[in-house]
Order: sequence, then C-alpha cells, then structure tokens
Amino acid sequence: MRREGQGLTDDLAVDEAYDHFGTTWDFYFEVFARNSINNAGMSLDGVVHFGEGFDNAFWDGAQMVFGDGSGLRFTRLTRSLSVCAHELSHGVVQFDGPLIYQGESGALNEHIADALGAMVDQWSKKQSAEEADWLIGSEILAPGVTGKALRSMKAPGTAFDDDVLGRDQQPAHMDDFVRTARDHGGVHINSGIPNKAFYEISIALGGFSWERAGRILYTTLGNPQLRPTSTFRQFARLNHRVAGQLYGPAGRESAAVEAGWKAVGIQV
Ligand SMILES: [Zn+2]
Repeated sequence: MRREGQGLTDDLAVDEAYDHFGTTWDFYFEVFARNSINNAGMSLDGVVHFGEGFDNAFWDGAQMVFGDGSGLRFTRLTRSLSVCAHELSHGVVQFDGPLIYQGESGALNEHIADALGAMVDQWSKKQSAEEADWLIGSEILAPGVTGKALRSMKAPGTAFDDDVLGRDQQPAHMDDFVRTARDHGGVHINSGIPNKAFYEISIALGGFSWERAGRILYTTLGNPQLRPTSTFRQFARLNHRVAGQLYGPAGRESAAVEAGWKAVGIQV
C-alpha cells in the first residue's frame, strides 16, 4: 500500500503504521545507532487490517501484523505508537536475545518490548521519566471500556478493570508472581514485575529514560551472556553487571539498578 518515501494513502491504518515504524526506526538509529530490526538495514514490513475485527497485534518472526480491533475491546491497533514500537522491538529481541517466549524468559521478552515501546513514545514527546505516563497502548481501548491502557509500567495491575476486558492481572512484585499455563506461562502477566523495576530505575536516575536506564537495558539485551532461558533473577544480575561496566560499579546507575530490582523483590 505504501512504500518508503511514498505519500499519504486514504487508509488511516496504513499511514499510522508507516509513521510509527518511521519514528521507531529513527529512535533506534539516533539513540542506539542501530540500523533497523536486525542492525543491518532490514526493511520494516507491516500488515494491517489483519483478520476480521482482530483485537491484537503481533510480530510473526519477519513482519508486524495489526488488527483493526473489534470496537468492543480495542480499536485500530496501529493508532498507538507504543504498540507499534513494542511489536517492532520483538524483532530486535529476536535478533539480539533471543529470549524464549515461555515463562520468565518470555515475560522478559514482553518486558523489553514494553520498555522500548515506552521509550519510543517518550522520546517522540521529549518527555522525562517523571513526566511520562508509562502506559502501553493508551490509544487503543474501545470507547466505553473502563481503563487507561493495555498495561501500566508505573503501576502494573491498574491499566483496566472492565466488564468486557476483565481486570488487569499484572503483578508488580515477586510476591504476586502468577503461576499459570495460559499465555505461554503468563508472559503478558508477569512482565509487570520487570516493567516496574525498569520504571523504578528510570525514576531514580531522572532525566530521559532512554539515556541511562534504556542504555543499560539495551546493552543487557545485546550482551552475549544473556541466555535464551534467562530467569528474572539472572536477567537482573546481568542488568546490574552491565550498569557497572557502562558507568562504573560504584556509580549511581549501578545502585539504581540494584534498588529497582529490589523494589520488585529481586536481589541482584
Ligand atoms: Zn508483545
């Protein structure tokens, strides 16, 4: 429908996806000097109007796919920059991680996609960690749904509470970790725990989330010691080690990472 450099179409979903992919590409290039999903100039392909009233979006291993929403739960998923950046970031995790999409490593995969989705949104608005809402998908809830967004990194478990959508089940602490066979072992549920840790680290460091907390996270993802089956604790320890390598083991970045994980019940 629209290739790079071509003008507006008369299809909103096409133009939203085009713009949001472009913003996300710019973020990765300007902030992390990364050249696209695979860091080798891969083209950003997306499919819109997938299915019939499909209430989801996903990365299929090679491209991003978006539904139009049923209008009961969600509206067009392309409306949200954080959702588009989240899906694209699953591609980045696939090339740099890769974290297996099951259990804790799957929840880390979801967490990294959320954290990068939030960073892209904040970067596009030039918002500090303090100013940002830390919501994922605040633009896609259908009219009439009681809620703010799909997920809240600042306050996991509070994004929505609705008759149709149900209640946001994300925990914000290891004490409330959800053991379930659904959702690949709760990948979209337990991601609330590392999401909250990232929020705490960003707030403790102040300024823009992508500058230090984001750099530490992105460098952790690219670290060869990250295992595909990493648990939360293994990831947190590597995250802490990377903070020390980047900013010095006695630096406030390292202390903020330790405190952020401690706030969610994980000792590094
Ligand atoms: Zn995801």
